[in-house]
Amino acid sequence: TSESYLVGLIGDGITRSLTPPMHETEARNHGLHYLYRPVDLEVIGRPGEDVGELLRAGRDLGFNAFNITHPCKQLVLDHLDEVAPEAAALRAVNTVVIRDGRFVGHNTDVSGFAAGFRAVLPGAAKDRVVQVGTGGAGSAVASALLSAGVQTLHLFDVDPARAGERAAAMAELFPGQQVAAATAETLPELVRAADGLVNATPVGMHHHPGTPVDPGLLEARQWVADVVYLPVETELVAAARARGCQVLDGGHMAVGQAVDAFRLITGVEPDRARMRAHFLDL
Ligand code: NAD
Repeated sequence: TSESYLVGLIGDGITRSLTPPMHETEARNHGLHYLYRPVDLEVIGRPGEDVGELLRAGRDLGFNAFNITHPCKQLVLDHLDEVAPEAAALRAVNTVVIRDGRFVGHNTDVSGFAAGFRAVLPGAAKDRVVQVGTGGAGSAVASALLSAGVQTLHLFDVDPARAGERAAAMAELFPGQQVAAATAETLPELVRAADGLVNATPVGMHHHPGTPVDPGLLEARQWVADVVYLPVETELVAAARARGCQVLDGGHMAVGQAVDAFRLITGVEPDRARMRAHFLDL
């Protein structure tokens, strides 16, 4: 067909994001004309508050969709005509599809993490899970874990107020399940008793080495998930693997959010395994 796609990523410092090449390569494999451009707020000298203005400009210039990232995932909500239920509940949007001039928001961070969790850790025990990090990625992951059926979720953050607020918000969204904040004192005991541990802090990134939790607490019966994907094999993932744990690396969430966004934008089913393989090559 002659249909073509023009897509952008709006966020701060995203010029080298791996999402544009993931989309463009997958599109090429489907024979689609698809351009995906970073719109880096840092480069163009615009604040996050301008996201609505940028969206409207993009619509007028023929863009089909935008991915939205830090610091605009909440700010963008004020500018949408429609928001998918999951994204509305979380009050965070990472994908805006433009249809007939209307802006429709989705959250594929949530669905993307959930898809990886289902695929890579299919039999994962879900009675008790500990998650460290309750910022942007953390709120998407907590929501995905509770949707997946985690019964008791403990949230820890070096910022205790943030962990407390997030736990309260999640408890309200998932009234049948237990969500509580953990403290630095209770964390080790909670990790020992957990079925699974999730890292949603930046600890483990190239410029942020280390592990957010002592991996010595982990046993082979537990599963470990990470959202950090630079590198894909974080110190936590490597240590957990070495201890015999099943692991879900952060690449699955990064690919998962792109898979779900690509499908929303094009209506074409992407090849998840091919996108993962390409992502690992980037
Ligand atoms: P953020 O700043 O919004 O949140 C990070 C949170 O971690 C903060 O609340 C901070 O207080 C907390 N924190 C930092 N160090 C901690 C520690 N040692 N122990 C406990 N809590 C700690 O950042 P974000 O946007 O949520 O990103 C977090 C990480 O997730 C980054 O590495 C980012 O690259 C990654 N990420 C991955 C994906 C993906 O698709 N895989 C998507 C988004 C973000």
